[in-house]
Amino acid sequence: MPRRVLVTGGAGYIGSHCCKALARAGAEVVVYDNLSRGHADAVKWGPLVEGDLRDRVTLEAALRAHRIEAVIHFAALAYVGESVGAPETYYDNNLGGMIALLEAMEAVGVGRIVFSSSCATYGTPAQLPITEDMVQAPINPYGRTKLACEWMLRDAAVAHGIEFAALRYFNAAGADPEGEIGERHDPETHLIPLALMAASGEAGPLRIFGTDYPTPDGTCIRDYIHVDDLAEAHLRALDHLAAGRGSVALNLGTGRGSSVREVIAAVERVTGRPVPVIAEARRAGDPAELTADPSKARETLGFAARYTDLDQIVAHAAPWFGHARALAG
Ligand code: UDP
Repeated sequence: MPRRVLVTGGAGYIGSHCCKALARAGAEVVVYDNLSRGHADAVKWGPLVEGDLRDRVTLEAALRAHRIEAVIHFAALAYVGESVGAPETYYDNNLGGMIALLEAMEAVGVGRIVFSSSCATYGTPAQLPITEDMVQAPINPYGRTKLACEWMLRDAAVAHGIEFAALRYFNAAGADPEGEIGERHDPETHLIPLALMAASGEAGPLRIFGTDYPTPDGTCIRDYIHVDDLAEAHLRALDHLAAGRGSVALNLGTGRGSSVREVIAAVERVTGRPVPVIAEARRAGDPAELTADPSKARETLGFAARYTDLDQIVAHAAPWFGHARALAG
C-alpha cells in the first residue's frame, strides 16, 4: 500500500469513509476538496487542502508538499438530475478536474490513481447482471462525464504510463458502523436517506418514482453496496496498482438487487416506523434494473462485499436521519 495518498473529494460521503479506512491501514491521508459539496468536519484522518481541482497550482503544490505516492479521485458533481439541467457545469467540473489532476500528476511524477466511476456509464444495460465488458452507453450527462474520464485515464496510461483503477460503483449506501461519519447530501435525493427521513418525520412522504416498471413489484431495482465495502475495495485497488498488476476497470456491487419497495420494507423493519409513500411517475433517466456482476472484482482484487444484508446497511445509515442507533453491528 502506498504510504502517502491524496484523496480528492475526501470531505464527501464515500471519500471520507475511504479516508478512515486508509488511516486505519496505516496510510498518511491528505484530503483535497473545495468543500462545494463536502463537509470540513468529515475530514478527520489527515490534513485538508482546500482547493479546486481545476486550480493546477494549488493541486501541484499539494502533491509536492506531501510527497504523494498515489491519488484516489472522488471529487466530482454526482447528481444525475442536476446534470440533465446543467450539463456544462458537469462537463466543466468533472472533466476539467480530471484534466488538471492528470496534468499535475504527470508534472510531479505521481503515477497511480484510483478513480470513482459509476454504473451510470453503462446506461440501460442489454442484460443483467452487468459485466465490465458490456457496452458503455450512458443516458445522462453525469454518466457521460464519468465515461469520458475513463477514456482520459486510458489515453493517459498509453501516453504517460500512469496506472489506474476505474471503480464503477453501483448504489453506495450505509454509513460508518462506529458512527463517526455518515451520508450528508444537500439536497438529499437518495432513496435510503429519504425513506429514513420520511419514517422519522424529518421529511414528507417518500415519493416512489415509478410503480409500473417490468420488475416483480413494479419498482426499480438497484444494487446497494455498503460504503465501507467500497472503501475496502479502494484499498485493495491501491495494493493492486502498487504491486504492478496493471490498470483495471471493475464493478463494485454486491450482485444482489433490491427494489424500491424492498428498501422501504427494510427501513420499516429497522426503524419500527411506517414509511408514508406517494406513488409518482417515473424519474427521467432511471433504468428499471441495475445489478452488478461482482466476479471480476473478486478475481482481480479478492474483494467481495462484507455487508450483504440490506437491513444492516439501513441500520448503519439510520442514526444520520433522525433515528436512534437502532440495530447493533
Ligand atoms: N427513488 C425513489 N424515490 C426517491 C428517490 C429515489 O423512488 O425519492 C428511486 C429511484 O427512482 C431509483 C432508486 O430509488 O430507482 C435509487 O435512487 P437513488 O437516487 O438513491 O440512486 P441512483 O440509482 O439514482 O443512483
